[in-house]
Amino acid sequence: MLIDTATRLRERGINPSMQRIAILNYMETHHTHPTVDNIYNALSASMPTLSKTTIYNTLTLFVEEGIINRFLTDDDVMHYDANIKNHTHFKCHKCGKIYDFPLPEIKTPEMEGFKVSDVKLFYYGVCKECSSKDKTEEIRTLLNL
Ligand code: ZN
Ligand code: MN
Repeated sequence: MLIDTATRLRERGINPSMQRIAILNYMETHHTHPTVDNIYNALSASMPTLSKTTIYNTLTLFVEEGIINRFLTDDDVMHYDANIKNHTHFKCHKCGKIYDFPLPEIKTPEMEGFKVSDVKLFYYGVCKECSSKDKTEEIRTLLNL
């Protein structure tokens, strides 16, 4: 509900402007790790005064307030994530989708005595869906379909 989004912003001491509410609501309803451009393309039709700079500044404010997270991918593109729980990502280089996965325990015996406060782990590869599409293609080719 948009009213809940506004309340959450107010609780954080953030003035709930229309644009801020719309951006946070988009983040909370699209768990696709959107970029500034993705959000702009989705919202600009209904909010003609919305600029990419406003979206960027708003997302930066949300990150600073701990409402959302952000991360860079290997192509230097910044993605935003409303899931602020500790987790890791897998980016498929075929379809470009970024998947959430739980963070595995990766402390090695050599790290004994080291206190870990943050882990950055990012997987790249081909997702399950694209892998099975590849298989289907392979079979089609084999059977000359
Ligand atoms: Zn894929
Ligand atoms: Mn995520």
